[in-house]
Amino acid sequence: MLLPGDGIGPEVVRQARRVLEAVGARHQLDLRFTEGDIGGVAIDRSGEAYPAATRALANEADAILLGAVGGPQWDGLPAQDRPERGLLAIRADLDLFCNLRPALLFPDLIGASSLRAELVSGLDVLIVRELTGGVYFGEPRGVVTRDDGVREGFNTDRYDEVEIRRIGRLAFEAAQKRNGRLCSVDKANVLEVTMLWREVMQELSSEYPDVSLSHMYVDNAAMQLVREPKQFDVLVTGNLFGDILSDIAAMLTGSIGMLPSASLNAQNTGLYEPVHGSAPDIAGLDCANPLATMLSAAMLLRFSLDAPEAANDVERAVAAVLLKGFRTADIAERQSSATVVGTQAMGDAVIAALTD
Ligand code: NAD
Repeated sequence: MLLPGDGIGPEVVRQARRVLEAVGARHQLDLRFTEGDIGGVAIDRSGEAYPAATRALANEADAILLGAVGGPQWDGLPAQDRPERGLLAIRADLDLFCNLRPALLFPDLIGASSLRAELVSGLDVLIVRELTGGVYFGEPRGVVTRDDGVREGFNTDRYDEVEIRRIGRLAFEAAQKRNGRLCSVDKANVLEVTMLWREVMQELSSEYPDVSLSHMYVDNAAMQLVREPKQFDVLVTGNLFGDILSDIAAMLTGSIGMLPSASLNAQNTGLYEPVHGSAPDIAGLDCANPLATMLSAAMLLRFSLDAPEAANDVERAVAAVLLKGFRTADIAERQSSATVVGTQAMGDAVIAALTD
Protein backbone atom coordinates (compact mmCIF):
# COMPACT_ATOMS: atom_id res chain seq x y z
CA MET A 1 0.00 0.00 0.00
CA LEU A 2 1.23 3.50 -0.83
CA LEU A 3 0.61 6.45 1.48
CA PRO A 4 2.23 9.40 -0.30
CA GLY A 5 1.11 12.00 2.27
CA ASP A 6 2.15 15.64 2.05
CA GLY A 7 4.82 17.95 0.67
CA ILE A 8 7.48 16.00 -1.22
CA GLY A 9 5.86 12.71 -0.12
CA PRO A 10 3.95 12.14 -3.39
CA GLU A 11 7.03 12.98 -5.51
CA VAL A 12 9.38 10.59 -3.76
CA VAL A 13 6.80 7.80 -3.42
CA ARG A 14 6.05 8.07 -7.15
CA GLN A 15 9.69 7.36 -7.97
CA ALA A 16 9.93 4.55 -5.42
CA ARG A 17 6.85 2.96 -6.95
CA ARG A 18 8.46 3.04 -10.39
CA VAL A 19 11.51 1.32 -8.93
CA LEU A 20 9.36 -1.31 -7.21
CA GLU A 21 7.53 -1.98 -10.48
CA ALA A 22 10.80 -2.32 -12.38
CA VAL A 23 12.47 -4.62 -9.85
CA GLY A 24 9.22 -6.56 -9.37
CA ALA A 25 9.08 -7.30 -13.09
CA ARG A 26 12.71 -8.46 -13.07
CA HIS A 27 12.11 -10.85 -10.17
CA GLN A 28 8.60 -11.96 -11.19
CA LEU A 29 7.10 -10.52 -7.99
CA ASP A 30 3.34 -10.19 -8.02
CA LEU A 31 3.18 -6.66 -6.64
CA ARG A 32 -0.24 -5.08 -6.34
CA PHE A 33 -0.57 -1.48 -5.19
CA THR A 34 -3.32 0.24 -3.28
CA GLU A 35 -3.15 3.90 -2.31
CA GLY A 36 -4.60 5.94 0.53
CA ASP A 37 -4.53 9.34 2.22
CA ILE A 38 -2.69 10.12 5.40
CA GLY A 39 -1.68 13.33 7.17
CA GLY A 40 -2.64 16.78 5.91
CA VAL A 41 -4.05 15.61 2.61
CA ALA A 42 -6.33 13.23 4.51
CA ILE A 43 -7.46 16.03 6.85
CA ASP A 44 -8.32 18.20 3.83
CA ARG A 45 -10.24 15.44 2.07
CA SER A 46 -12.00 13.70 4.95
CA GLY A 47 -11.37 15.63 8.15
CA GLU A 48 -9.09 13.01 9.74
CA ALA A 49 -5.36 12.35 9.55
CA TYR A 50 -5.86 8.56 9.50
CA PRO A 51 -9.29 8.05 7.93
CA ALA A 52 -11.26 4.82 8.15
CA ALA A 53 -10.76 4.06 4.44
CA THR A 54 -6.97 4.25 4.85
CA ARG A 55 -7.17 2.17 7.99
CA ALA A 56 -9.12 -0.56 6.21
CA LEU A 57 -6.59 -0.75 3.36
CA ALA A 58 -3.63 -0.62 5.74
CA ASN A 59 -4.95 -3.56 7.70
CA GLU A 60 -5.18 -5.61 4.52
CA ALA A 61 -1.79 -4.68 3.11
CA ASP A 62 1.32 -6.86 3.34
CA ALA A 63 3.46 -3.74 3.54
CA ILE A 64 3.07 0.04 3.45
CA LEU A 65 5.32 2.64 1.89
CA LEU A 66 4.79 6.12 3.28
CA GLY A 67 6.18 9.43 2.02
CA ALA A 68 5.87 12.06 4.73
CA VAL A 69 3.19 14.06 6.51
CA GLY A 70 2.83 17.65 7.65
CA GLY A 71 3.22 21.16 6.38
CA PRO A 72 2.76 24.80 7.39
CA GLN A 73 -0.88 24.92 6.24
CA TRP A 74 -1.79 22.54 9.11
CA ASP A 75 0.52 24.01 11.77
CA GLY A 76 -2.31 26.09 13.28
CA LEU A 77 -4.41 23.02 14.16
CA PRO A 78 -4.58 21.79 17.76
CA ALA A 79 -2.01 19.07 18.52
CA GLN A 80 -4.55 16.23 18.48
CA ASP A 81 -5.79 17.21 14.98
CA ARG A 82 -2.45 17.65 13.22
CA PRO A 83 -1.17 15.54 10.30
CA GLU A 84 1.53 13.92 12.46
CA ARG A 85 -1.26 12.28 14.47
CA GLY A 86 -1.92 10.13 11.40
CA LEU A 87 1.53 8.64 11.75
CA LEU A 88 1.11 7.86 15.44
CA ALA A 89 -2.34 6.41 14.73
CA ILE A 90 -1.16 4.00 12.05
CA ARG A 91 1.80 2.86 14.19
CA ALA A 92 -0.54 2.12 17.10
CA ASP A 93 -3.23 0.58 14.87
CA LEU A 94 -0.81 -1.91 13.30
CA ASP A 95 1.15 -2.48 16.54
CA LEU A 96 4.43 -1.57 14.89
CA PHE A 97 6.71 -2.28 17.83
CA CYS A 98 9.95 -2.76 15.97
CA ASN A 99 11.77 0.14 14.36
CA LEU A 100 14.65 -0.66 12.02
CA ARG A 101 17.03 2.13 11.12
CA PRO A 102 20.00 1.19 9.00
CA ALA A 103 22.98 3.50 8.95
CA LEU A 104 24.60 2.68 5.66
CA LEU A 105 27.27 4.88 4.21
CA PHE A 106 27.55 4.89 0.45
CA PRO A 107 31.23 5.16 -0.49
CA ASP A 108 30.55 8.06 -2.83
CA LEU A 109 28.96 10.13 -0.06
CA ILE A 110 31.77 9.71 2.43
CA GLY A 111 32.36 13.46 2.58
CA ALA A 112 28.88 13.97 4.08
CA SER A 113 29.71 12.04 7.28
CA SER A 114 30.51 13.84 10.51
CA LEU A 115 33.41 11.45 11.12
CA ARG A 116 36.71 10.95 9.33
CA ALA A 117 36.56 8.81 6.21
CA GLU A 118 38.63 5.93 7.63
CA LEU A 119 36.23 5.54 10.59
CA VAL A 120 33.08 5.32 8.46
CA SER A 121 34.19 3.95 5.13
CA GLY A 122 32.12 0.79 4.57
CA LEU A 123 29.84 1.55 7.54
CA ASP A 124 26.73 -0.63 7.61
CA VAL A 125 24.98 -0.77 11.00
CA LEU A 126 21.36 -1.67 11.69
CA ILE A 127 19.67 -0.27 14.80
CA VAL A 128 16.66 -2.23 16.05
CA ARG A 129 14.63 -0.08 18.43
CA GLU A 130 11.60 -1.15 20.46
CA LEU A 131 8.93 1.38 19.53
CA THR A 132 5.78 0.86 21.56
CA GLY A 133 6.97 0.25 25.14
CA GLY A 134 9.50 1.37 27.72
CA VAL A 135 9.63 4.72 29.41
CA TYR A 136 7.77 6.56 26.61
CA PHE A 137 4.62 4.57 27.35
CA GLY A 138 5.03 3.26 30.91
CA GLU A 139 2.47 4.15 33.57
CA PRO A 140 2.31 5.85 36.01
CA ARG A 141 3.60 9.05 34.52
CA GLY A 142 2.98 12.70 35.13
CA VAL A 143 3.88 15.88 36.94
CA VAL A 144 2.36 16.42 40.38
CA THR A 145 2.69 18.98 43.11
CA ARG A 146 3.55 17.16 46.30
CA ASP A 147 2.12 17.94 49.74
CA ASP A 148 5.27 19.97 50.50
CA GLY A 149 4.45 22.19 47.48
CA VAL A 150 7.37 20.94 45.37
CA ARG A 151 6.57 19.82 41.82
CA GLU A 152 7.72 16.34 40.82
CA GLY A 153 7.83 14.74 37.37
CA PHE A 154 8.01 10.99 36.86
CA ASN A 155 7.88 8.30 34.20
CA THR A 156 8.00 4.53 34.39
CA ASP A 157 10.41 2.40 32.41
CA ARG A 158 8.62 -0.89 32.03
CA TYR A 159 9.01 -3.93 29.77
CA ASP A 160 7.60 -7.38 30.26
CA GLU A 161 9.41 -10.41 28.93
CA VAL A 162 6.91 -10.89 26.08
CA GLU A 163 7.71 -7.42 24.74
CA ILE A 164 11.43 -8.02 25.08
CA ARG A 165 11.26 -11.41 23.43
CA ARG A 166 9.33 -10.20 20.39
CA ILE A 167 11.75 -7.37 19.63
CA GLY A 168 14.64 -9.73 20.42
CA ARG A 169 13.43 -12.27 17.87
CA LEU A 170 13.22 -9.68 15.11
CA ALA A 171 16.73 -8.47 15.98
CA PHE A 172 18.17 -11.99 15.93
CA GLU A 173 16.43 -12.66 12.61
CA ALA A 174 17.78 -9.42 11.17
CA ALA A 175 21.29 -10.42 12.31
CA GLN A 176 20.83 -13.81 10.62
CA LYS A 177 20.11 -12.01 7.34
CA ARG A 178 23.23 -9.85 7.79
CA ASN A 179 26.61 -10.68 9.32
CA GLY A 180 25.37 -12.67 12.31
CA ARG A 181 26.46 -10.28 15.06
CA LEU A 182 23.97 -8.78 17.51
CA CYS A 183 24.82 -6.33 20.27
CA SER A 184 22.11 -5.75 22.87
CA VAL A 185 22.32 -2.33 24.52
CA ASP A 186 21.09 -1.82 28.08
CA LYS A 187 21.92 -0.24 31.41
CA ALA A 188 21.84 -3.49 33.34
CA ASN A 189 24.32 -2.22 35.91
CA VAL A 190 21.69 0.25 37.18
CA LEU A 191 18.18 -0.37 35.81
CA GLU A 192 16.25 -3.50 36.78
CA VAL A 193 14.09 -3.29 33.67
CA THR A 194 17.19 -3.66 31.55
CA MET A 195 18.53 -6.49 33.74
CA LEU A 196 15.46 -8.39 32.59
CA TRP A 197 16.12 -7.17 29.03
CA ARG A 198 19.63 -8.67 29.17
CA GLU A 199 18.39 -11.92 30.69
CA VAL A 200 15.74 -12.44 28.01
CA MET A 201 18.18 -11.63 25.19
CA GLN A 202 20.58 -14.17 26.67
CA GLU A 203 17.82 -16.81 26.85
CA LEU A 204 16.84 -16.16 23.24
CA SER A 205 20.38 -16.56 22.00
CA SER A 206 20.24 -20.34 22.47
CA GLU A 207 17.60 -20.41 19.70
CA TYR A 208 19.90 -18.58 17.30
CA PRO A 209 23.24 -20.43 17.44
CA ASP A 210 24.29 -18.78 14.16
CA VAL A 211 24.13 -15.30 15.74
CA SER A 212 26.82 -14.14 18.14
CA LEU A 213 25.25 -12.04 20.91
CA SER A 214 27.11 -9.44 22.96
CA HIS A 215 25.88 -6.90 25.51
CA MET A 216 26.93 -3.30 26.00
CA TYR A 217 25.92 -0.55 28.40
CA VAL A 218 24.26 2.37 26.64
CA ASP A 219 26.84 4.96 27.67
CA ASN A 220 29.59 2.82 26.21
CA ALA A 221 27.50 2.11 23.07
CA ALA A 222 27.09 5.85 22.44
CA MET A 223 30.83 6.30 22.78
CA GLN A 224 31.66 3.29 20.59
CA LEU A 225 29.30 4.50 17.84
CA VAL A 226 31.40 7.60 17.35
CA ARG A 227 34.74 5.97 18.23
CA GLU A 228 34.62 2.85 16.09
CA PRO A 229 31.17 2.42 14.51
CA LYS A 230 32.23 -0.34 12.16
CA GLN A 231 32.54 -2.81 15.07
CA PHE A 232 28.72 -3.13 15.02
CA ASP A 233 26.49 -5.19 12.76
CA VAL A 234 23.05 -5.10 14.47
CA LEU A 235 22.23 -3.20 17.68
CA VAL A 236 19.02 -3.93 19.58
CA THR A 237 17.73 -1.73 22.36
CA GLY A 238 14.68 -0.26 24.08
CA ASN A 239 12.66 2.76 23.09
CA LEU A 240 14.59 5.54 24.83
CA PHE A 241 18.12 4.31 24.14
CA GLY A 242 17.12 3.46 20.56
CA ASP A 243 15.77 6.94 19.95
CA ILE A 244 19.12 8.47 20.86
CA LEU A 245 21.46 5.88 19.36
CA SER A 246 19.66 5.80 16.01
CA ASP A 247 20.07 9.55 15.61
CA ILE A 248 23.77 9.29 16.42
CA ALA A 249 24.14 6.52 13.86
CA ALA A 250 22.17 8.52 11.29
CA MET A 251 24.56 11.43 11.49
CA LEU A 252 27.48 9.16 10.71
CA THR A 253 26.03 8.67 7.25
CA GLY A 254 25.44 12.35 6.47
CA SER A 255 22.44 13.36 4.44
CA ILE A 256 18.86 13.05 5.66
CA GLY A 257 17.71 12.48 2.09
CA MET A 258 19.43 9.07 2.12
CA LEU A 259 18.04 7.46 5.28
CA PRO A 260 15.34 4.78 5.16
CA SER A 261 13.43 3.23 8.05
CA ALA A 262 11.01 0.41 8.76
CA SER A 263 8.54 -0.22 11.56
CA LEU A 264 7.37 -3.82 11.85
CA ASN A 265 4.78 -5.79 13.80
CA ALA A 266 4.74 -9.46 14.80
CA GLN A 267 3.39 -10.48 11.37
CA ASN A 268 6.23 -8.60 9.64
CA THR A 269 3.70 -6.21 8.17
CA GLY A 270 5.78 -3.12 7.93
CA LEU A 271 5.46 0.60 7.52
CA TYR A 272 8.42 1.82 5.51
CA GLU A 273 9.29 5.48 5.27
CA PRO A 274 12.18 7.84 4.70
CA VAL A 275 13.50 9.40 7.90
CA HIS A 276 13.05 12.91 6.48
CA GLY A 277 9.88 14.97 6.67
CA SER A 278 7.65 16.52 4.01
CA ALA A 279 10.17 19.28 3.15
CA PRO A 280 7.51 21.89 2.25
CA ASP A 281 10.27 24.30 1.19
CA ILE A 282 11.02 22.20 -1.89
CA ALA A 283 7.67 20.47 -2.51
CA GLY A 284 6.58 20.44 -6.13
CA LEU A 285 9.95 21.63 -7.44
CA ASP A 286 11.18 18.23 -8.67
CA CYS A 287 14.36 18.51 -6.63
CA ALA A 288 13.63 16.23 -3.64
CA ASN A 289 15.95 13.31 -3.13
CA PRO A 290 13.89 10.11 -3.66
CA LEU A 291 16.71 7.73 -2.62
CA ALA A 292 15.69 7.38 1.06
CA THR A 293 12.21 6.32 -0.10
CA MET A 294 13.69 3.87 -2.62
CA LEU A 295 15.93 2.43 0.10
CA SER A 296 12.83 2.15 2.31
CA ALA A 297 11.20 0.23 -0.55
CA ALA A 298 14.25 -2.07 -0.58
CA MET A 299 13.70 -2.75 3.13
CA LEU A 300 10.05 -3.45 2.35
CA LEU A 301 11.10 -6.08 -0.18
CA ARG A 302 13.54 -7.65 2.29
CA PHE A 303 11.52 -7.66 5.51
CA SER A 304 7.85 -7.82 4.50
CA LEU A 305 7.89 -9.48 1.09
CA ASP A 306 10.82 -11.83 1.72
CA ALA A 307 12.45 -10.80 -1.56
CA PRO A 308 16.06 -10.22 -0.49
CA GLU A 309 17.49 -10.44 -4.00
CA ALA A 310 15.16 -7.74 -5.26
CA ALA A 311 16.09 -5.64 -2.22
CA ASN A 312 19.78 -6.11 -2.98
CA ASP A 313 19.16 -5.07 -6.58
CA VAL A 314 17.55 -1.80 -5.50
CA GLU A 315 20.39 -1.05 -3.07
CA ARG A 316 22.97 -1.91 -5.72
CA ALA A 317 21.22 0.35 -8.25
CA VAL A 318 21.23 3.26 -5.79
CA ALA A 319 24.95 2.73 -5.13
CA ALA A 320 25.55 2.53 -8.89
CA VAL A 321 23.89 5.88 -9.67
CA LEU A 322 25.91 7.53 -6.91
CA LEU A 323 29.08 5.99 -8.32
CA LYS A 324 28.15 7.40 -11.74
CA GLY A 325 28.01 10.84 -10.14
CA PHE A 326 24.24 11.44 -10.17
CA ARG A 327 23.24 13.68 -7.28
CA THR A 328 20.10 15.50 -6.19
CA ALA A 329 20.88 18.99 -4.93
CA ASP A 330 20.91 17.98 -1.23
CA ILE A 331 23.79 15.53 -1.70
CA ALA A 332 25.69 17.35 -4.43
CA GLU A 333 29.15 18.28 -3.22
CA ARG A 334 31.13 20.84 -5.06
CA GLN A 335 32.86 18.33 -7.28
CA SER A 336 33.15 18.69 -11.01
CA SER A 337 32.10 15.12 -11.86
CA ALA A 338 28.67 15.32 -10.20
CA THR A 339 25.56 15.55 -12.36
CA VAL A 340 22.82 17.33 -10.43
CA VAL A 341 19.44 15.85 -11.35
CA GLY A 342 15.84 16.25 -10.22
CA THR A 343 13.54 13.75 -8.51
CA GLN A 344 12.14 12.24 -11.69
CA ALA A 345 15.54 12.02 -13.39
CA MET A 346 16.98 10.30 -10.31
CA GLY A 347 14.16 7.77 -10.64
CA ASP A 348 15.08 7.26 -14.31
CA ALA A 349 18.74 6.76 -13.37
CA VAL A 350 17.99 4.16 -10.69
CA ILE A 351 15.66 2.26 -13.02
CA ALA A 352 18.33 2.31 -15.72
CA ALA A 353 20.91 1.03 -13.21
CA LEU A 354 18.59 -1.85 -12.27
CA THR A 355 18.85 -3.20 -15.78
CA ASP A 356 22.56 -2.50 -16.32
P1 NAD B 1 12.22 17.96 6.82
O1 NAD B 1 12.93 16.64 6.92
O2 NAD B 1 10.95 17.92 6.06
O3 NAD B 1 13.20 19.04 6.14
C1 NAD B 1 14.42 19.44 6.72
C2 NAD B 1 15.34 19.99 5.61
O4 NAD B 1 15.82 18.90 4.83
C3 NAD B 1 14.62 20.92 4.63
O5 NAD B 1 15.49 21.93 4.22
C4 NAD B 1 14.28 20.04 3.46
O6 NAD B 1 14.20 20.73 2.23
C5 NAD B 1 15.44 19.04 3.48
N1 NAD B 1 15.03 17.72 3.01
C6 NAD B 1 14.28 16.81 3.68
N2 NAD B 1 14.07 15.73 2.92
C7 NAD B 1 14.69 15.96 1.75
C8 NAD B 1 14.82 15.21 0.55
N3 NAD B 1 14.27 14.00 0.40
N4 NAD B 1 15.52 15.76 -0.45
C9 NAD B 1 16.09 16.95 -0.33
N5 NAD B 1 16.02 17.72 0.77
C10 NAD B 1 15.31 17.22 1.80
O7 NAD B 1 11.99 18.46 8.31
P2 NAD B 1 11.22 19.78 8.83
O8 NAD B 1 11.48 20.92 7.90
O9 NAD B 1 11.56 19.87 10.24
O10 NAD B 1 9.68 19.41 8.75
C11 NAD B 1 8.82 19.74 7.67
C12 NAD B 1 7.47 19.08 7.89
O11 NAD B 1 7.63 17.65 7.87
C13 NAD B 1 6.83 19.42 9.23
O12 NAD B 1 5.45 19.58 9.03
C14 NAD B 1 7.12 18.20 10.09
O13 NAD B 1 6.17 18.01 11.10
C15 NAD B 1 7.05 17.10 9.05
N6 NAD B 1 7.83 15.88 9.41
C16 NAD B 1 7.27 14.71 9.04
C17 NAD B 1 7.95 13.53 9.26
C18 NAD B 1 7.34 12.24 8.79
O14 NAD B 1 6.40 12.29 8.02
N7 NAD B 1 7.86 11.11 9.19
C19 NAD B 1 9.23 13.54 9.84
C20 NAD B 1 9.79 14.77 10.18
C21 NAD B 1 9.07 15.95 9.94
